[in-house]
Amino acid sequence: MTDHLTLNNGVEMPAIGFGVFQTPPAETADPVASALDVGYRLIDTAAAYANERGVGDAVRASGLARAEVFLESKVWISDYGYDQTLHAFEKSARKLQTDVIDLFILHQALPGDFERTIAAYRALETLLADGRVRAIGVSNFMVEHLRALLESTDVVPAVNQIEVHPYFQQRDVQAFGAEHGILTQAWSPIGGITAYRGGTKSTFDDPTLVEIAANHGKSAAQVMLRWHIQQGVQAIPKSVNPSRIAENFDVFDFALSADETARIDALDTGVRGGPEPEMITLETFGRDIPES
Ligand code: NDP
Repeated sequence: MTDHLTLNNGVEMPAIGFGVFQTPPAETADPVASALDVGYRLIDTAAAYANERGVGDAVRASGLARAEVFLESKVWISDYGYDQTLHAFEKSARKLQTDVIDLFILHQALPGDFERTIAAYRALETLLADGRVRAIGVSNFMVEHLRALLESTDVVPAVNQIEVHPYFQQRDVQAFGAEHGILTQAWSPIGGITAYRGGTKSTFDDPTLVEIAANHGKSAAQVMLRWHIQQGVQAIPKSVNPSRIAENFDVFDFALSADETARIDALDTGVRGGPEPEMITLETFGRDIPES
């Protein structure tokens, strides 16, 4: 049995989901099929990943009822603006081959054009009111972005998807979210970004994580996922490898002690792996999101 988390509007969401960032479009259906097969029931994709169609293909081919799978996708910044974002929903829904997207979020704030960000979020509110999405949220919003959003919109985001792993924990953003009923969803939850960006220190080889893992007969990745679950943080590990896909879901049969949790909390370096949210602009990160 997987654990579930309840969003601020009562919608239930699995505690562990499956990510597909950097999974090539033509090779997305197979890992998603493997994930569904071992029990994942949440898939996180994004318009900018160009692989929503592969996700939709795998869900359809799985034979699972649509309501059994929680589909999450993200609007890219190039599609911000009220009408553009309504249209972005149609593009994503078509590729995912669904009428309703369970959780639809803004991929980034556009700090230099926050009015446009607000207009995009207003479109999400409309989609929610119209029943086209079951919950709405944001990603990579820092405290100042969340504050500005809450001041000018009506629906509190259900989720803020941010970089969280033992080396970068963003406790200030997490605390602001908790205070306002915004669930933190961890991207790069096992610190993939500390490895695939060619960093010098990867979470997978961290001596503390490796030692705690050995004590439980688990892997460092499993310990990190358990750490998220025990803090009520939703996590979406990505893999294209069937055995790692299964490994990352096999995290419901052990528990970390308070001492182990504290040792992992102490690994925070404060160093971000992803792009600085304040630096995101259409000029540097804009890209066309195709119709189909
Ligand atoms: P993860 O922390 O999920 O790590 C994924 C990386 O680790 C891959 O290189 C994978 O390789 C490898 N890996 C997976 N499982 C294991 C394991 N058990 N042991 C060792 N290595 C492993 O990083 P991501 O950055 O992919 O984040 C997860 C998801 O979060 C994304 O797929 C996406 O859905 C979302 N995301 C959102 C962002 C945003 O801006 N909102 C930004 C980045 C990610 P392999 O595939 O070969 O197994």
